[in-house]
Amino acid sequence: MSEKAWRKNLINIEPYVAGEQPKNENIIKLNANENPYPPAPGVAKVLASKSATELKKYPSADAVPLKEALAKRYGLSAENVFCGNGSDDVLATAFRAFFNSDKPIVFPDITYSFYPVWCELLKIPYITKPVDEDFKINVKDFYCENGGVVIPNPNAPTAIGVGKDFITDLLDNNPDVIVIIDEAYVDFGKYSCVELINKYDNLIVTQTFSKSRSLAGMRIGMAFAQPELISYMQAVKDSYNSYPLDQLAIETGIASVQDEEYFISTVEKIKATRDKSAQEFRAMGFKVTDSETNFLFVSHPKISAKEIFEYTREKGVFIRYFNKPRIDNWLRITIGTEEQMETLIKIVKELIESR
Ligand SMILES: *Cc1c(COP(=O)(O)O)cnc(C)c1O
Repeated sequence: MSEKAWRKNLINIEPYVAGEQPKNENIIKLNANENPYPPAPGVAKVLASKSATELKKYPSADAVPLKEALAKRYGLSAENVFCGNGSDDVLATAFRAFFNSDKPIVFPDITYSFYPVWCELLKIPYITKPVDEDFKINVKDFYCENGGVVIPNPNAPTAIGVGKDFITDLLDNNPDVIVIIDEAYVDFGKYSCVELINKYDNLIVTQTFSKSRSLAGMRIGMAFAQPELISYMQAVKDSYNSYPLDQLAIETGIASVQDEEYFISTVEKIKATRDKSAQEFRAMGFKVTDSETNFLFVSHPKISAKEIFEYTREKGVFIRYFNKPRIDNWLRITIGTEEQMETLIKIVKELIESR
């Protein structure tokens, strides 16, 4: 390669790597925490009612109709709501808006692997705090001086959640920085801290339509906070892309939020399948963390995670393996339909019994 002077000014960044998206339709895909069920029926109705002509117009500049639908669903006002292109966009916007201190932000060592990527991209200093051997987060580790805090609840990929006491303790000990709680999986969990935004003016809660609402392909995410914080996020977003959501995302998002009955029934189905599958993995000798999400985090005492991953992949079931310190003998398995989970369990049983 010739030594071009501009090369030394190129960005040097290792991007986030998502689960594989195989082309083959027959693959059972349990590697990206997607929802196995279709979105609410109202979403299909919106799509069927559209004509291409409508796309010639710009969408609502600030997604207000969706913000209003969300505000209603959560008992808030539209000024408490920010919408972005998936919660990844919402989180990146919040990092830009709030993590501008010289002090490092802090997050757990085992957590969503996008956080260090944004820190690198946005030149935000960061430190990590190790979770314990059971993957539990110790709240006292987060009492340290810092430039901000971000924690997913429930955490990923460990699947473990924390309750209200943990969150209020965290907030009471970090009054001078912004605390982001990433609730991507909260609809499958036990405690959402959206109720705390009126009490804590430094709390941002992010959520997504990608998991519990089966709309990963639409890219809809949101943040809840006091109006002042929302206005800073809006200002950052409007500084590089002033039409946050496209027209289809706004309208399908509203259709999803307005169908509470379908939402609850899908989430409950997934939780029931999750709890049943967890039992079956335990019966096969696996360690399984207590999942409050739509995935299981499992480890076998005798067969390596990498071998199980490669074996099930060969048989057409994709699960997630992380070649990373501390979790390289663990697997993250998205909860599919009952039938998909039975297929996976049968394949894993074959492998174990062949030993
Ligand atoms: C899936 C996920 C997100 C973001 O998902 P989007 O599709 O961008 O909304 C954010 N945080 C965690 C922990 C996730 O697992």
